[in-house]
Amino acid sequence: MKFGNRIVMKFGGSCLRDLESFHRISDILKGYSQNELVLVSSALYGVTNSLIDLANTAEKHSVDLDKELNSIADKHTSLLEKVIKNDLKETALDEIRREISELEIALKDIWDYGLKPQKLDLVSSFGERLSTIILQRYLEAEGYRTVYVSSYDLIFTTGEPQNALPILERTEQRVKERILPLLSEGKIPVVTGFYGRDAQGNVTLLGRGGSDFTATILAYCLKNENIEVRVILWKDVDGLLTANPKLEPSAHLIRDISYSEAKELAFFGAKLLHPLCVFPVERKEIPVEIRNFETLKPDRYTRISKGVKTKESVVKAIADMKNVNMITVEGEAMVSRPGTAAKLFDLMGKNNVNIIMISQSSSENNITFLVSDEDKNKAIKALNWSPFFGKEWVNIEMEDDVGLLSIVGAGMKNTCGVAGRIFSALGSARVNIRAIAQGSSELNISLVVSREDLQRAVQAIHKEFNLREDEEEH
Ligand code: ASP
Ligand code: MG
Repeated sequence: MKFGNRIVMKFGGSCLRDLESFHRISDILKGYSQNELVLVSSALYGVTNSLIDLANTAEKHSVDLDKELNSIADKHTSLLEKVIKNDLKETALDEIRREISELEIALKDIWDYGLKPQKLDLVSSFGERLSTIILQRYLEAEGYRTVYVSSYDLIFTTGEPQNALPILERTEQRVKERILPLLSEGKIPVVTGFYGRDAQGNVTLLGRGGSDFTATILAYCLKNENIEVRVILWKDVDGLLTANPKLEPSAHLIRDISYSEAKELAFFGAKLLHPLCVFPVERKEIPVEIRNFETLKPDRYTRISKGVKTKESVVKAIADMKNVNMITVEGEAMVSRPGTAAKLFDLMGKNNVNIIMISQSSSENNITFLVSDEDKNKAIKALNWSPFFGKEWVNIEMEDDVGLLSIVGAGMKNTCGVAGRIFSALGSARVNIRAIAQGSSELNISLVVSREDLQRAVQAIHKEFNLREDEEEH
């Protein structure tokens, strides 16, 4: 048994590039050698997207399967050739060949029988299956006692294709059975990120960027009263920022952030974190660090934890979403009619439309909600076809020239005047607010503005609340 903590580390695709980056991983592990370690690997950069394309084009017979399979195989074998020099290279090559031939079978199935949602999940999981072989065998060749573990054997899910949720109790039991013995033998499990399995035994994905989620799920399962657990997500940035740097060049690193604030940011488009990955760690108060793999600066990182340091400023960060569309359903028929909102959201749910934000006017004659570009046509079609909303006396309007900004901060709670400051800052910047919503948690205020005003709005609020880096170190 080691004396340190237990740490679950996730390496993103940008950490798995070349010999230098693999050496860097090995160096990082040396620095944490007093701890029990569990590693989670994402796919190599770009591979998940290629696999999804491949599944879709195989269904349409519009791809040269052999050629694409070869190119995926080459990408992995050529990296392997660079990073492993001893006889483990042959072992790893065999393992890669085996995965590629399983992938081929799955793709031929799609070619012959069409793309069922479960098949898309299966094909997408190969990115992690392949990358984890390379990482595990590389570390073994470097002398680490590592073991490859497929998350298929660890994570039980609810089963919705592409976006399944973990069933934490069952998963916890399994993770303890499989992982604890390895740790007590001093081994390092190297786990495939991104997927688990449902009750029928299908591979199910945890959503895009799901390896973060894998890491936090494992941390949840491995935490008990007697041991401290930490998660480190190695990425290609320092951490969470006060705003999108493309819109606000003076955006700063957030050094400390609470679980609830991080959840809001992850949800509202801070693409850096899987939107649900904070939930499991919050439940057991496990701290998460987001660290920069490129620069390895020991003191520049984001820590997500329970404690929030109070800053002068009540606002912590501004998240933005550019590709959103505002749909307004309006009509006298909706006034004082219980069940209208339920009908509307039920209809959207049944059509797989994800609702990003909702706002209703007090006159009750309209409901406004936001959907992504991906969902907008589905939403409009469902409304027009609906016997209730499609009627002439309900007017349906879509505005596709809007953007959303969400102002997040636990300090907004019980602080008077925050909304007032936001509105006057936007007024002075000549930004017109087209819809507003505030969550009852008072952790965020979300505003819809014209897309062309989005940048000006973000900058005005960043300036008004003087968002800057915490002076104190962790
Ligand atoms: N490879 C998966 C994706 O691209 C999961 C991850 O990167 O975390 O979504
Ligand atoms: Mg990724």
